Amino acid sequence: MARYNGPVCKLCRREGEKLFLKGTRCLSAKCSFEKRSYFPGQHGVGQRSKLSEYGIQLREKQKVKRIYGVLESQFRNYYERATRKKGVSGENLLKLLESRLDNVIYRLGFAASRNNARQLILHRHFRVNGKIVNVPSFLLRPNDVIEVNEKSRKLAAIHESMKRIKDDVMVPWLSLDKAKMQGVFLDTPNRQDIPVNVQENLIIELYSK
Ligand code: SF4
Repeated sequence: MARYNGPVCKLCRREGEKLFLKGTRCLSAKCSFEKRSYFPGQHGVGQRSKLSEYGIQLREKQKVKRIYGVLESQFRNYYERATRKKGVSGENLLKLLESRLDNVIYRLGFAASRNNARQLILHRHFRVNGKIVNVPSFLLRPNDVIEVNEKSRKLAAIHESMKRIKDDVMVPWLSLDKAKMQGVFLDTPNRQDIPVNVQENLIIELYSK
């Protein structure tokens, strides 16, 4: 499975905002974006020039790919799937990305970031409806139950990450039982319940050209 393995903080600086790709570090004073919010590279300072319409659409697509950790070919597949579904294509695209197992593991607090969630999933630390799933892109359906595998319930990384979630998850379409280390994907989210700062319509416009 191909993955971006370069320095992730540069991606935030490239997009001009925090994308929260590094777990707890993103919330600390160590966050690179807090210290250097200008473009990466030798001539980064003052480089944020006015973008063309195409440039704005392209940046929005890159930002979403980076937030969810999806490479171009897979992202394009999501776009095509989104346009085939009923409803607003941009919203369908985000709903598909939010339904990925790695995203849900992150939102439930079992992992510090989506990237960390992918690693934990690949190491077979989670079950969906009682069966181990080791595919980060696995798409969840309403009422699917996600839980930490019994053998993995003492894993320090998962416990450390769960401290991030105080009482319950931040989104209404997931529920969490912290004591059981179990969550439920209650329903596919509505757009207003997806807390990401993106203009998904720009991505649809870009691909439809
Ligand atoms: Fe982005 Fe997190 Fe790095 Fe800050 S620490 S620049 S939010 S990935």
